[in-house]
Amino acid sequence: MSQATITRSFSLISRAPDKVEARESINLRMQAFRSLENTYLDVLFDALRDSTLELMDFAGESKAHVKEHVYNKLELNLISSSYQPKIKIKERMKRSAIQYPYFAVRSWLIQTHYLSLIIRELITLLSDSLTHAVRFLQGDPLSKPVMGRLSRALRADCFGNTNFLSHAYISNLIGQVRNLFISNSHLGSLLSDQISLTEINSTQVQEFLEKCLKSFSRKKKGKTQVIPISELKSYFFKLYVARVKKQSTWNAKHVMKIKDMDAFKQSRNNFFEFLIDSLHDVLGKVPGSFTHDLAQKMFNEILEDSGNSAPEHLIKGIFKPFTRAARVDIIPTRNGFIQYFGQVLKNQLILNVKELFITGDFITEMNNELDFLKESLHNLVNRPKIRNLALPINQAEGIYEADFSRLTIKLSFRSKEFIEYRVKDEKGRINELMERGATTRLPVLTIKGRKFLLHLPFELPSNDLSKHSSPETQTSRVVIGVDLGVKHLAVLSVMDLTDPHHPVEIARYFIGMRTLFDKKFNSVSGRFESKERFNHSHSKKKSCIKRKLRNMRHEARNIQRKVHEYENHFSERNTNSPARQYKHYRLTKTVSGAWNRVKHLNEEIIHQLQHLILQIALYHNASLLKFENLKWSRHSKKKYVGSYLAFWQTHWFFSQVQESVKLQASLHGITFQLVNAAYTSQTCWECGKRGRREGRNFTCMNHALHASKKPIFIHSDLNAARVIALA
Ligand SMILES: [Zn+2]
Repeated sequence: MSQATITRSFSLISRAPDKVEARESINLRMQAFRSLENTYLDVLFDALRDSTLELMDFAGESKAHVKEHVYNKLELNLISSSYQPKIKIKERMKRSAIQYPYFAVRSWLIQTHYLSLIIRELITLLSDSLTHAVRFLQGDPLSKPVMGRLSRALRADCFGNTNFLSHAYISNLIGQVRNLFISNSHLGSLLSDQISLTEINSTQVQEFLEKCLKSFSRKKKGKTQVIPISELKSYFFKLYVARVKKQSTWNAKHVMKIKDMDAFKQSRNNFFEFLIDSLHDVLGKVPGSFTHDLAQKMFNEILEDSGNSAPEHLIKGIFKPFTRAARVDIIPTRNGFIQYFGQVLKNQLILNVKELFITGDFITEMNNELDFLKESLHNLVNRPKIRNLALPINQAEGIYEADFSRLTIKLSFRSKEFIEYRVKDEKGRINELMERGATTRLPVLTIKGRKFLLHLPFELPSNDLSKHSSPETQTSRVVIGVDLGVKHLAVLSVMDLTDPHHPVEIARYFIGMRTLFDKKFNSVSGRFESKERFNHSHSKKKSCIKRKLRNMRHEARNIQRKVHEYENHFSERNTNSPARQYKHYRLTKTVSGAWNRVKHLNEEIIHQLQHLILQIALYHNASLLKFENLKWSRHSKKKYVGSYLAFWQTHWFFSQVQESVKLQASLHGITFQLVNAAYTSQTCWECGKRGRREGRNFTCMNHALHASKKPIFIHSDLNAARVIALA
């Protein structure tokens, strides 16, 4: 029979009278445990170094394997940690302490093996072509065929197990190789030798400068055009003037806080006109070699900067360079232009300068270093260290006792000492799971801040099979009513109508964006669990789809408005230049892109919601899914003000959800039904009379008609879902 494991976490509360003292003492014991774990790590690495342990001693993953190949072989029971000598951890607890160090070393071995395989592949790649070397050193992603080749090379780990690694993981490994290479490379000194030998007048450098100057381009009529060197000066002068104007406008607006911007622009333009004309004259008289000389000067600066930096930084400086934006002042001047133009040229040179240095010699040297790196990986790759205070129990005997009927556990770190804890389970979750046939497994205990936590795995027998075959379900009629809305995307009421006169609500679900995107419906337990996509704290961030959608819609609308403004402007001026047409074309493109993103996200929500509703229906073995007929829709405009969906979209959204549920339900043999339920929001689900609805609260005062003989107070969406289920 298939089984499923789910883990629940509980706080542990000390039974000792002095809570502060109890917390300190458990902290001390956990620290002693952690320091023993780190001592074991050192012992394992030493054993690997002097070959007391072989690679294959780490091949197994079972408790028995660890005990036989590592714990007993190294006589770890004789080793104590020096950190907390007062706390003598007992032998049985020590057997738990080997777990994490063993697996840490095991994955370290696998990782190191992968790194060495990558280096081996890199060496062959680099001798093939220079581009791979440049890409690797720049940290650019490698090409698809190369990634494919690497993923084939990494198919087996060092224990011969087959793994299919993702490209993201392989890229990460390549990054690690690159970091190791850069921080351990001696190529910096080779580079600095090369730099000091570089002759500015050598043909090689002159060719390089020429090539860089020819690499500027502009767009003309949608085509990319290389700017001839002779035109560079005037081309960048125009850009310079435009940038200065922009800068001075910004300055006037935000620094000088001038109110009348039109008047300011008028007088500024008059003033600039004269300056620009005279600058034009000055620049017209500079010698023809002006651009080339400036580039040469900038190249000298780059060489000087590189010559001054330490050899170990050189590699990064050359292969992962950073550039500075060319700055301008608020008044056009000769020096200002030369500075601006110089920076533009310098940036272009910086981005290309590596070409000068990646030569055959460099690659040979690089390969030698990679080879060396491969041989010394075991000393260079960071060794794991255990930082968390965690206690994985791997055998109960003598160290861990649990009595969940009394909600207590006992721990024993030292001989003759048992510490008792109460398991905080106010909702009775343990009891509930046990009643459903779950059995507990050995837990992990952790300390988080001031909290001592028990992470307890439960093994559940899968009830899928038993459910389908039980005679009870054949006669039972489970109906689900679904109320779609915007606050809660869907509210589900699961009704058992086996006895039509006494409907029983088995379960109810409120599905919001959070439930949809941050939680996972466990189809074994029938509960929502938090979705831990990866085991990193930074990815535990909650997704905020609603805000994302709203922002995207705002963005799209803003661009849309710009397009309209632009179109109006157009017709007023009655100009139709190609440049304007192109800009208009670009703007409309961006608008449709933005709306497309909104649409895709909406579709994703619909898809997820459909999937979830069906999962719930299958879990409860429902025979009928009921939705409200949108023709009768009671949704008023007011309800949606400020929501993420535009008013006109809600109807579309609801009908899309219904359509896709209908299709999927028919594939699973579940009947889909639309209910003509006018006034669902005002009707009481139990007595069918009109009640009162205020926001999310529904009240029905006809207590005489209710089974409980009391008035009904209920969430209005849940009431609606029940009305739909019973209609
Ligand atoms: Zn009522």
